[in-house]
Amino acid sequence: MSTKRVLSFLQKGWTAFVDPDREERLSRGVASIQRALSDQRDAFDLAAIVEKHQIDPEDRAEIVRRVYQKCLTKAWSDGEISTKELRTLDWVAKHLRLSEQDASQLKREQAERVFAAVLSDAFQDGVLDDTEFARLSDVARTCDSTPANFFRTRFRAQGEAFLQQLFARVLADGELTAREWHSVTETMGRLGMTEAEFRELIHQPAEQFVEHLLADFKSDEQIDATEEDCLNWALTHLLNDPEFTRYVHAEIAQIKRLTNLRQGILPSVQPPAGIALKAGEIVHFLAECRFVTARRRGGESVSEAVVGQGVITDDRFVFTSSERSLQVIHSKVLGFQQHPHAIEIQCAGSAAGLYRFPPHTQYGPDIWLTAIRKANQTLVTPRQASDARHIPRDVRQRVWQRDGGQCVECSSPHYLEFDHIIPVARGGGNSDKNIQLLCRGCNGRKSDKI
Ligand SMILES: [Zn+2]
Repeated sequence: MSTKRVLSFLQKGWTAFVDPDREERLSRGVASIQRALSDQRDAFDLAAIVEKHQIDPEDRAEIVRRVYQKCLTKAWSDGEISTKELRTLDWVAKHLRLSEQDASQLKREQAERVFAAVLSDAFQDGVLDDTEFARLSDVARTCDSTPANFFRTRFRAQGEAFLQQLFARVLADGELTAREWHSVTETMGRLGMTEAEFRELIHQPAEQFVEHLLADFKSDEQIDATEEDCLNWALTHLLNDPEFTRYVHAEIAQIKRLTNLRQGILPSVQPPAGIALKAGEIVHFLAECRFVTARRRGGESVSEAVVGQGVITDDRFVFTSSERSLQVIHSKVLGFQQHPHAIEIQCAGSAAGLYRFPPHTQYGPDIWLTAIRKANQTLVTPRQASDARHIPRDVRQRVWQRDGGQCVECSSPHYLEFDHIIPVARGGGNSDKNIQLLCRGCNGRKSDKI
């Protein structure tokens, strides 16, 4: 409430208290002046009417305002105002000796009331179409204004809420088409919002949208040029956050690495010191590694863990620690089970067991598997949709909505991955019930427990 309105409210409250008859007097005054206006037309003389009906000078200003207000309401009763009606209003204002400032303020207030009504009608279906916008423009024009101006001054909250809803709705299916984007930017302009204001307004859903795309691409384990363009477009048009952009680019690089792995393209790294490589042997990966194996001790199976270093080459996997040194030749692997950040190897001898890599050294198991497949010439590219781990798009879409686009363990909105609650290797399927959103950190902790 403006100071002026607060004051007028207090005055009204006070006068009603000390002068209980005032309202009745005002109504009588309004009726007399209205009658005189329509009877006498151009001969109307305010001073004479005031005199004739003994209108209290203290009531005069309020009565005049109310008469003008009534004329405004009548003129607007059909939801629009004609040039003829505007001329009549000017005529009334002149004869009521209403100051130009008061008249235009009353006109503006009335226009705002009509604008609010048209707006709630227009916003109901969630789009602001051409016809609706034209109506808003007509209303604003009666005060020599524009809808954008109305939105910037009196209807900012409504405009922002509407645009947020519109944006959330176009993103609900996880996609933003050119047509949807055009409708959003057009509405943004109609609501008098600048691009910077718009970006600030949609920051959160825009980030969620990008996170959703990333999680989707990660679950497909591939990202193509169109998808990458789409992400870069979102980063420049929807967001203005250099830190977030860096994070997304790092994630894209990760997904690309995975795509390469799926196609059998393995990275090369500097060979570590202390390992004797064969001639021409290429090192693909090295990282800290935890080897877990089951040992029979007194008839019981006891699990034993050793921390060391794991090295994957094009020919074998080498594990070294202060206590033991093992190797698994790729072509001698009999079977395996993949877990997040870990791989369980079946082979003859003491090297059989579970090898776990720290979560931050992404794709150790994937590199190993690719190396094994290449060595055994069983690499099939690209991955087929029938892959047991492939989560269908509609399932991903529902799970994303259900889990609110955040990690179900820690509520983080970043580094999200679609996780099989019961791993595929243990018979878990791809239904909604078995899929959840986990962040990379929580997913790593979960796999530690397997
Ligand atoms: Zn988490």
